[in-house]
Amino acid sequence: MKATDKIDAARIDLLLGELRLPGIKLIWAALAATADKEGWPAARFLAALAEQEMVERSRRRFERHLVEARLPPGKTLDAFDFDAVPMISKAQVQALAAGDAWLDKGANLLCFGPPGGGKSHLAAALGMALIEKGWRVLFTRTTDLVQKLQIARRDLMLEAAIAKLDKYHLLILDDLAYVTKDQAETSVLFELISARYERRSMLITANQPFGEWGKIFPDQAMTLAAIDRLVHHATILEMNVDSYRRKEAIDNARSVGRPPTRATIKGSS
Ligand code: ADP
Ligand code: MG
Repeated sequence: MKATDKIDAARIDLLLGELRLPGIKLIWAALAATADKEGWPAARFLAALAEQEMVERSRRRFERHLVEARLPPGKTLDAFDFDAVPMISKAQVQALAAGDAWLDKGANLLCFGPPGGGKSHLAAALGMALIEKGWRVLFTRTTDLVQKLQIARRDLMLEAAIAKLDKYHLLILDDLAYVTKDQAETSVLFELISARYERRSMLITANQPFGEWGKIFPDQAMTLAAIDRLVHHATILEMNVDSYRRKEAIDNARSVGRPPTRATIKGSS
């Protein structure tokens, strides 16, 4: 490389940095060498650079969205055993994973079922699949979010805090049922549900179906209003299965040659 070329290269890097074109900055030197060697027309070279910038940008965007989503790690649709929840249709879940049909209109998804049935796993896996498609998602334990919103309300910032969540096409509230405390806690949740209604989607997991929701929203009118908004455009997945954790523990015990714990109790068969 000639000295002038070197100066040009340094200047190009500087300019590309300044212009925030990280993809081009990474690749231009190598591409330029190929283009020179193979005698590419200038337009082809420029197209290749632009394409590279697109690829790099979408990769970075995906990574940003993945970090901000705070999904529990390792919970993917590939790792989800659909045979364990025969009442859930894999095709339906795959359709939900595309997002368009429900996130565009702010529809909701509600997952009910006993502990260990795979609600959080499925929710996180859907979140992951949606991020891959370019949607923005936030996964949070319901109690954590409620606490944050309560602090916001104390500081007279509740509206702003809820508005900030608008950037997420999907808000995953894991374990709704554990929010049972007082009116103050549940009313921020109600504000959130009302604010997102028909605009932005929520995925809610809960151990109890609606019949028990009186315990979540102590005020009965509020309970009904919340349920009404949540279910208006909702898909409901009932996951009434035995705990996957327990099933796994029993299977593991079997596979190492030990019978399940229950059978080891003397006298039982
Ligand atoms: P829930 O949220 O309903 O209490 P989780 O999603 O936390 O249940 O599931 C408990 C554990 O079992 C997790 O480690 C999860 O990955 C696993 N699990 C549950 N259901 C399945 C499934 N159908 N396929 C694979 N793993 C599962
Ligand atoms: Mg859970």
